[in-house]
Amino acid sequence: MKISFFGAAQNVTGSNYLLDVNGSRVLVDCGYYQERDFRYRNHEPFPYDPIDIDAVLLTHAHLDHSGLLPKLVKHGFKGKIFCTEASADIAKIIMYDSAHIQEEDIKHKKKRHAKQGRKSPYPYEAIFTTEDVDATAEMIVPVKYEQEVQVVDGLKCTFNDAGHILGAAMLYLTMQEGDKTRTMIFSGDMGRPDAPILCNPTTFEKADYVVVESTYGNRVHKPNKDIPNTLARIINQAHRSGGNIVVPSFAVERSQELLFHMHNLLIEKRIPQMPVFLDSPMAVRVTEVFHRHPELFDEETAAMLARGEHPCDFPGLMLTRSVDESKAIAVNKGSAIIIAGSGMCTGGRIKHHIKHNIEKPESTIMFVGYQAVGTLGRTLLAAPEKIRIHGEEYTVSARIEKINGFSAHADRNELFGWISALKEAPRHLFVTHGESEAAKEFGEYINLKTGWDVSIPEYCDEQELI
Ligand SMILES: [Zn+2]
Repeated sequence: MKISFFGAAQNVTGSNYLLDVNGSRVLVDCGYYQERDFRYRNHEPFPYDPIDIDAVLLTHAHLDHSGLLPKLVKHGFKGKIFCTEASADIAKIIMYDSAHIQEEDIKHKKKRHAKQGRKSPYPYEAIFTTEDVDATAEMIVPVKYEQEVQVVDGLKCTFNDAGHILGAAMLYLTMQEGDKTRTMIFSGDMGRPDAPILCNPTTFEKADYVVVESTYGNRVHKPNKDIPNTLARIINQAHRSGGNIVVPSFAVERSQELLFHMHNLLIEKRIPQMPVFLDSPMAVRVTEVFHRHPELFDEETAAMLARGEHPCDFPGLMLTRSVDESKAIAVNKGSAIIIAGSGMCTGGRIKHHIKHNIEKPESTIMFVGYQAVGTLGRTLLAAPEKIRIHGEEYTVSARIEKINGFSAHADRNELFGWISALKEAPRHLFVTHGESEAAKEFGEYINLKTGWDVSIPEYCDEQELI
């Protein structure tokens, strides 16, 4: 019995763990690397042969957990991919989107490099194509939360609500080899206890081994109670000045969370009714998944449904899919809220909306998520005087606002609270899915508070499960 760490080990993306149990090989997640320093790994062969893998357990749909599944299939994986029903729906949307972006990127890169006389270190082909995603989608076996699944001979798994994004799961594994039985928990990505729409993360009392994420393992979030107040202030201010509010947002969860808050503010009459455009075909498709899975909502949202309301719907909300519908938003008269992707303004429709609004002092660009270094979003956050978009220069006259407190990840105290639910020391606890510093600091924190046996595995480390 053995675990190997092939991703999200002293870094955040590319989640990928391999379990060797009773002669079978089972992967937990097969994620895409999104951090610049590690992206080269997306192009390299897997550190194992995909043909030898018997099954995959997918904790949730995010690209950094699901994004290399089509590559695994392309290179010979023939087993089943187990995940929750909502994860299955959202993962398909994310994988098709990724294939599409890669196919487009390759075309442009080839032309650009030819013109500049440059050469890419990798072949000019997508890591996987739409056809690979078609094949992957066929292999997904959707399961319900808390339903025990026999994955392979000697390994059973239960998916438990992780409260991170719709369908996200913590895995509880029971592994058997001869007369030896060991249990193991994978936290997956852990949400925050009071996040809108979603249920709270599941806690566990006992396990032999624990693998816990540490994205914010060395930080404490601001209370998210401030979000509705700040949102109301920004919307009212923009409405009074007659401008638009342009919101760069991620398609999965953040957009729906925003709709939830706007819904409540509208019901409470804290903001005026105005057109709200969800101008992202991907966000619209993910919102449809929310409509299909009301059974996953928390009590507060269930009560909303019982009143005949839906967290992702309210008067004035318009879901725009086609390019023509999107272009029509620019000629809309009066104030409107425009939510579009990408979340860091690196591409997509948001760039057009920013161009149309950035020179208007009555408009507002409102950030609701982390903006990585080197992105247009990050540049805009610093409120520069001028900015270049699509090769043209614009004067920044619009207000730039940021709402803090949105986070789909538990912070240090919340992660530790989850660990504290364990009534006895596990045989070993692995800290993963965090930048090196965050993972190490969190590991030390756990050890200091509990005295438990903790390690922070590195890429390609393996450990015998004794
Ligand atoms: Zn995630």
